[in-house]
Amino acid sequence: MGTYALTNANTGEVEQKFDSINPSEIPGIIDTADKAYQEWHKKPATERAAVLTKAAGIFRDRSAELAEIIGKEMGKPVNDAKDEIELVANIFEWYADHAEELLEDEKLDAKGAPTNLVRHESMGVLIGVMPWNFPYYQLARFSAPNLLLGNTILMKQASICPVSSAKFEEVLSEAGLTDGAYQNLYLNAEDVETVLEDFRVKGASVTGSERAGTAVAMAAAKNVKKSVMELGGNDPAIVLDSVKDVAKVAQKLTFLRFANAGQVCTSPKRVIVLESIYDEFVQAAVETAQSVKVGDASDESTQMGPLSSEGARDEAVERIAQAVKDGATLHFGGEKLDRPGWFMSPAVLTGVDFDADLSCNELFGPALVIYKVKNEEEAIEFANNSEYGLQASVWTDDVEHGFEVADQLVTGMALVNEHVTTQADLPFGGVNKSGYGRELTQWGFYEFSNEKLIRGG
Ligand code: NAP
Repeated sequence: MGTYALTNANTGEVEQKFDSINPSEIPGIIDTADKAYQEWHKKPATERAAVLTKAAGIFRDRSAELAEIIGKEMGKPVNDAKDEIELVANIFEWYADHAEELLEDEKLDAKGAPTNLVRHESMGVLIGVMPWNFPYYQLARFSAPNLLLGNTILMKQASICPVSSAKFEEVLSEAGLTDGAYQNLYLNAEDVETVLEDFRVKGASVTGSERAGTAVAMAAAKNVKKSVMELGGNDPAIVLDSVKDVAKVAQKLTFLRFANAGQVCTSPKRVIVLESIYDEFVQAAVETAQSVKVGDASDESTQMGPLSSEGARDEAVERIAQAVKDGATLHFGGEKLDRPGWFMSPAVLTGVDFDADLSCNELFGPALVIYKVKNEEEAIEFANNSEYGLQASVWTDDVEHGFEVADQLVTGMALVNEHVTTQADLPFGGVNKSGYGRELTQWGFYEFSNEKLIRGG
């Protein structure tokens, strides 16, 4: 009991503790969610959409208060936190605004009967298991489409984000959501399986590590339930020699890598640069890293806050140190800062072998690793030499060619001259060990719908 706690990442102080749910309470919680489902999914879609629209407005109105909470819980700088809340509002609005077309029956041109159509029906109660790195956005991208569809949600947010996850439930309730249609649960990780054993729970969505994803995917499969997995990434960013303003691209990629203190699934974790522009790129990246303002999340001028926990910070520092012992060159940073809280300096590394730990395994922290390659073929080969497959980017002044290179990358998302793009109107998801299924837009909407065939006449 009591694993859920708000520990201020900026000070290291435990500010609040919460008891977690006793497994004996689980059947009652599912009763509530199922009763809510019986009411919520029968409401007209326009009423469900209106709740989403109202929620978007409340998220915007309460942005400052909500931003401050995650600044403490996981160290997100206040301006980034406000951007995240705006994205949440956009997601709720996007689904509300597209309700009619998303829910419209799809007519089929099939032989043998006059009526042939597919209806998008809700399924029932779902469970979400979410991470702390975007504490509101992760909850929004699972709950907004499913609430519009008529499903109801049991949400297990990471145990370091107990206050923001309760606020999210509060906003939905204030927006007029049926009681029990969204429940924030302080559920222990090992009890997710018990929830999935209940017949009334129809599926699970996980965003998190491969470890968590595997555990929940297995529990879902054992009970023949659908799952969506948004897992880790070791994203490549390929910088081609057609780039004229090398320093500008280096600055962009450096800031992207250090955004959210490097704790972004789609962060450019392997930056692959063509030999002829490599030295200029490294120099600009190091200068950029040295200029990053690390500080308290509540300070408006902070560019990089603390990491989310002591364990996350220590792991990043240790793995960087190990890379150096293994022969990498550390140009800057990678050290604990001498102050309370989970701070470290952003690191720039080169000379990491293609088969070393940082090349093969995601580092969820602020370490920019730059690789030198002889040519484009070698860049593509190394980019694809990964068990992950989330997002990749190609940087070039020859955009047409950039898309040709992007076509050869084995990922769920391939971008040209941008990276880490997440918008309410774009789908999101990966392949291989980065997971399966999609979130956002219509692709996310139909993941947990019963695509019901209606035929005859
Ligand atoms: P994590 O340890 O897997 O935690 C994520 C969630 O899973 C938390 O709610 C956690 O609960 C829960 N969990 C952990 N082990 C579990 C288990 N055995 N059974 C059921 N639930 C379990 O991941 P993290 O370290 O917080 O997040 C970082 C990872 O998430 C990175 O790999 C990152 O790339 C990935 N991520 C992916 C995406 C994407 O969209 N693809 C987005 C963001 C992050 P507790 O907090 O109680 O342990």
